[in-house]
Amino acid sequence: MHVAIVGSGPSGLYTADALARLWPDVEIDVFDRLPTPYGLVRGGIAPDHQSTKAVARAFERTLSRSGTRFLGNVEIGRDLSYEELKAAYDLVVFSIGAEIDRPLGIPGEHLRGVYGAAAFVGWYNGHPRHRDLDPLLDGKALAVIGNGNVALDVVRVLAKTLAELADSDICAHAAERIGAAHLRDLYLIGRRGPVEASFTPIELAELGELQRCDIIVDPAAVSAEVGPEVPEKEVKVRQRNLEILRSFAARVGDPKPMRVHILFNAAPVAVLGEERVTGLMFERTRVVEGRAEPTGERFELPVDTAIAAIGYLTGPLPGVPFDEKRGRFANDEGAIEPGVYAAGWCKHGPRGVVGTNRTDAGVLVKRIAEDFAANPPAGGKPGSREIDLLLRKRNVRVVEFAAWKRIDAAEIARALPPKPREKFVTAEELLAAAGD
Ligand code: NAP
Repeated sequence: MHVAIVGSGPSGLYTADALARLWPDVEIDVFDRLPTPYGLVRGGIAPDHQSTKAVARAFERTLSRSGTRFLGNVEIGRDLSYEELKAAYDLVVFSIGAEIDRPLGIPGEHLRGVYGAAAFVGWYNGHPRHRDLDPLLDGKALAVIGNGNVALDVVRVLAKTLAELADSDICAHAAERIGAAHLRDLYLIGRRGPVEASFTPIELAELGELQRCDIIVDPAAVSAEVGPEVPEKEVKVRQRNLEILRSFAARVGDPKPMRVHILFNAAPVAVLGEERVTGLMFERTRVVEGRAEPTGERFELPVDTAIAAIGYLTGPLPGVPFDEKRGRFANDEGAIEPGVYAAGWCKHGPRGVVGTNRTDAGVLVKRIAEDFAANPPAGGKPGSREIDLLLRKRNVRVVEFAAWKRIDAAEIARALPPKPREKFVTAEELLAAAGD
């Protein structure tokens, strides 16, 4: 059985793991267009959440299994086509995540100083594609739109002092810019109320530990109770979020130099400014049956930078059936076509934490096993033999697992303690560190 997994983030590697348990002799090629594996573990999880990144050790074991290969720096759609993958492998699983920022869809969103969270997070995490984002952090006020964990990450990273970031793996270029910024007011803005916010309590509570930052919450805005419309399994989390927000609202003490203002019931309707953002226009909302209903009341918030953390979309790949409306691969519970599946965020959109992918991978692999039992593949596919020939013919510089380990070691070696690593952030640097 020859398997190709496209994307070496959590969904791809948990799928590889589950497949190797199902079929101990399976040969798995894991492709990634970056020379580095682990997807969002490297490029998405906040740099100050090192304990969450420790999952990379388990993924390292997955990629070290005999019969599994990592083929970094190989892009499907550029170096190999979808048709070539299908011709070479019995099973193809796409696990490319969702790396495109969902657009705000409001006037002015293309002004200078407005960024999507995928780009902004990619910038401070050293994703080669976003390394040159060069965000404007020269003003005093910055707004983050969205009430999810990504919005919390962005606000927290911007609010931390360099000392608080010292044991993170934030890239040097980003630490320098954040350290030199003179931001005073950060706004975290949700279009619905505090009950509907999709924060998780641990991440929300972390805001309260920031050294140089007050958390400003209007007590009246967080007086709501969790209603019967909230699904039973989410009640505790929502109640805990409310408790934390109320504890922020009740805080007293000497003012700190920076403030995070948490605002609710404000839907963005326009980005203001001529060439660069100067403010945001919001419409106040009330939540009716879980939905944000506009009230007709509008207000302006002057800001120098705006970051939209409102969700991600998957980008299409040439030839792979795509659901334009949902921004993900067209699939039926993971099945795209016979022998082709989707896993993780490119299957069901951006939701869940790293561990969610483990459960999802188990479900998907069970489905694959059932499909293959009902319709056994014809067999006779050449697998990596054919693919290696094509890659060699096209002069693709494949970064295998041993080469990634050289990058890994070089990044760790050049970091100044207590920093765990200093990432290489361009393709050239990464390939140089990969060696021959
Ligand atoms: P999310 O939890 O879905 O949050 C997206 C936010 O954007 C919601 O508040 C949503 O509001 C809002 N939004 C969407 N469209 C909007 C619009 N047009 N205008 C204004 N607001 C809009 O997604 P996320 O924060 O991107 O996170 C993605 C996944 O990664 C989540 O499962 C998250 O838990 C996970 N994650 C986890 C961690 C962690 O565990 N530390 C860290 C980062 C991310 P509505 O609710 O009203 O739609």
